Amino acid sequence: MKRIISAILLIIIAAAAFTGCGIFTPSAPQRFSVVWYDLFDTGISVTAYCRDQKEFSALSSEIYSELQRYHRLFDIYNEYEGMNNACTVNKRAGDRSLVETDPALVELAVLAAEMYRLTDGRVNVALGPVLSLWHEAREVSLQSPDKAYIPSAGELSAAAQHCSIEGLFIDREKNALRLEEGMSLDLGAVAKGFAVEKTAQKLEAEGRSMVLISAGGNVRAVGSKPEGEKWSVAIQNPDLTSEKNYVDVILAQDISVVTSGVYQRCFEYNGRSYHHIIDPDTLMPEDRYLSVTIAAKDSGAADALSTAVFNMDQAEGLAFIESLQDTEALWILPDGSFAESSGWEALRK
Ligand code: AMP
Ligand code: MG
Repeated sequence: MKRIISAILLIIIAAAAFTGCGIFTPSAPQRFSVVWYDLFDTGISVTAYCRDQKEFSALSSEIYSELQRYHRLFDIYNEYEGMNNACTVNKRAGDRSLVETDPALVELAVLAAEMYRLTDGRVNVALGPVLSLWHEAREVSLQSPDKAYIPSAGELSAAAQHCSIEGLFIDREKNALRLEEGMSLDLGAVAKGFAVEKTAQKLEAEGRSMVLISAGGNVRAVGSKPEGEKWSVAIQNPDLTSEKNYVDVILAQDISVVTSGVYQRCFEYNGRSYHHIIDPDTLMPEDRYLSVTIAAKDSGAADALSTAVFNMDQAEGLAFIESLQDTEALWILPDGSFAESSGWEALRK
C-alpha cells in the first residue's frame, strides 16, 4: 500500500512540475551566450534562453558542430579528410568527371544558381577567378601597405572570361558538381547565410526556439525571446570610428537580417578604400552604398540578396526588393543617409 501511495505521489509531483504548477515550477529560462572566432573567417555569436548552463552547452555544441561542418564544406582554400568540398571542386575544374560531394554543397550550388538568375547575375558564385585577384590584392595590401596594389583592368577582364555560371554543372541525383576549365567557385556571398539557415532549420525541426545566431552580419532568429518578446537586431553603423555602434534597430522573430557592408573586408590603395563586393559588370568594388541590409525569412537567400542588391543602382534595387514577397531592405548611402523598402518601417515595431 505504502508503495502504491508513494508511486501516486511521485506521479502527482512529476505532473505538477511538468504542468508548471506547484512547488516544482521550473524557473524562467536564463539568457546565455557564446562567441567563436574560428569559423567562416568571422565572429559568430549564439544567444539563447535555456534552463541552465548544461542545456546551453549542449545546444551551443550542436550549433558549433553544424557550422563547422558547413565551414569545411564551403571552404575554397583548404581540403579536409573524408569530404570533397568546394576546394576539391575548384581543384578538379576542367576534369571530365563529376566531383561527388555532400548534398548540402549541391543544395548551396542550386540556391546560388537560382539567385544568379533572379538577380540578373549580380551575385555570381562562379566569379572565383575575378574575386581571387581582388583577394590576393587585399592580402598583399593589408600585409605590406608599401606594396599595395589593385588588379589591372587587363587581368580582371581575362579572369572574367572564366566566370560564366553556365560552366557550373549540377547533378542533383548524384550529388555531384563539375566546373569548366579555368573556373573556380567563391561561395563567400552565400555560404554563411546558407550555413546559418540550415542550422536554424535543424533547431526548428527539433522544436527549439529562443535562439539567436549572429555570424558576421548574418543574424537569424529561431523563435522569439521568452514570453513571445521579439529579438532586437541592431544594424551596424558603417562608420566604425563612431561612438554609436548601430544606426537602426528592428524586431525579429523567425526571420533573418543580413548586412553586406564596405567596412567588412577592405584595404587602402593610393588613398582610396576598396571593399570586397565586386560588381560583375565593372569587375570593381563600386561606391554605391556603405551597406545594404536585407530582412527575409531565409538567411541563405537574404545573404545572396544582400550582395546582389549592393551591385544594383538604388532605383533598380528598390524596385527589385518591392517585387519580392516578405523581403525588405535598408540602404545606407555614401553620405550616411538612408533609403528603405516600403515594409521596413513595420519591422521597427
Ligand atoms: P557578402 O558579405 O555577403 O556581401 O559577401 C561578399 C563576399 O562574396 C566577398 O568577400 C567575395 O568572397 C564574394 N563576392 C564579392 N562580390 C561578389 C559577387 N558579385 N558575386 C558573388 N560573390 C561575390
Ligand atoms: Mg551576401
